[in-house]
Amino acid sequence: MISEELKKIIKEGNDFLVSSHINPDGDAIGGILSIGWLLNKLRKKFIIVVDSTPSEKFKYLTDFKKIVSYSETLKIDFTIKNLLTVDVPNLERLEKVNKLLPKGIKVVNIDHHESNSNFGDINFIDLRACSCTEMVYELINSFGMSLDKDVAEYIYTGLVIDTGRFRFSSTTPRAFEVAAKLSEAGARISFIAEWLYHTNSMETLKGLGVLLDSLDMNMNGRIAFVHFDNEYLKSEEGSKMDTEGFVNYPLSIENVEVAAFLQETEKGRVKVSLRSKNNNINVNNIAAIFGGGGHAKASGCRIKGTIADAKKLLLQEIRKKLT
Ligand code: 5GP
Repeated sequence: MISEELKKIIKEGNDFLVSSHINPDGDAIGGILSIGWLLNKLRKKFIIVVDSTPSEKFKYLTDFKKIVSYSETLKIDFTIKNLLTVDVPNLERLEKVNKLLPKGIKVVNIDHHESNSNFGDINFIDLRACSCTEMVYELINSFGMSLDKDVAEYIYTGLVIDTGRFRFSSTTPRAFEVAAKLSEAGARISFIAEWLYHTNSMETLKGLGVLLDSLDMNMNGRIAFVHFDNEYLKSEEGSKMDTEGFVNYPLSIENVEVAAFLQETEKGRVKVSLRSKNNNINVNNIAAIFGGGGHAKASGCRIKGTIADAKKLLLQEIRKKLT
C-alpha cells in the first residue's frame, strides 16, 4: 500500500538526492532510475548519486549515464532537502554518499529487505515485493501515470535480476502481472534476456574459469566456496570482468546447500556473497553475524582478514546452522 505521506513528500517536496547501496545491482539501478523518471515527470529537481561506478552491464537503460558516481569533488547545484533511497537496508550501505547529506533532511526509505532498519522518516517496506522496482511500479501507478518504454525497462530489469529470471521462490503471481504490463509498455523482453544472460565480455568468461578453479567443497559437498584474490581483481583481465551472477555457479552444484563467493577487494578485506538453497538456512542471519544483511536466500557482508580467514569464520557459522 502506498501511504498518503509518501505520495505527499514526492508531490510536494523538491531537491531530492536519490541513492542506493554501494556496488548497485540491477534492482538498485532500475529502482533509482525509475524514481528519477517519476521525479522528472513531476518536474522535480533531483540528482542520482551512488558510491562506486555502476556496472556497464546496465548501460542499455536510457538514463544510465545520469547516475553520478560519488567523488570528493562532486558539486551539487542545489541544497538537498530530501533523501530517497531504494534497496538500502541501512544508511551505512550508502557508504560515501553519506558525506553529501546535510543535517535535518527528510529521508524516504523504499526497500524489500527483511534486515531493513526502518531508518527513514517515511518507510515504504514490503518484504513480499520480489524487487524494489516492483514497489516503485506501485508508486508510479498510484500517481496514475502511464509507463513508457524507458521506465518499463528500468522496472523490468529489477524484476528480472532480483527474481533470478522469474526463478527464485520470491517470484510471485504479482511479479508476472507487473512483467506483463511492462512488456505492454514496450520493455524489450527478449533483448534484455539476451544481453543480461547470453552476452559476456571475454574477460568475464575467463574470470569465470579462474573462479571455478578456486572451488572449495566442505561438509561432504554441502557448502561450496569460490573466491578471487586481490591480485586477480586488480589485474588487467580481472578488473574488466563483470561478476554478477557468479555466485550461482557453486550454488548450482547438486547437493550444495550454501554457497559463498569471496572477493578480496582490498588486501585484508573480503566482500562475501552468500546464497542458500535450503529453506531452513537463512543466510541473512549468517551475514548479520559479520555486520551484513540481505535476504533469507541471498545476503552479503564484509570480513576483515585474508580469504583463508574469511572462509574459516564463515565455515564455523554455516556449519552450526547445518548441523
Ligand atoms: P550480493 O551478494 O548480490 O552482493 O547481495 C545479496 C544481497 O545481500 C542484496 O540484497 C544486498 O543488498 C545484500 N548485501 C550484500 N552485501 C551486504 C552488506 O555488506 N551489508 C548488508 N546489510 N547487505 C548486504
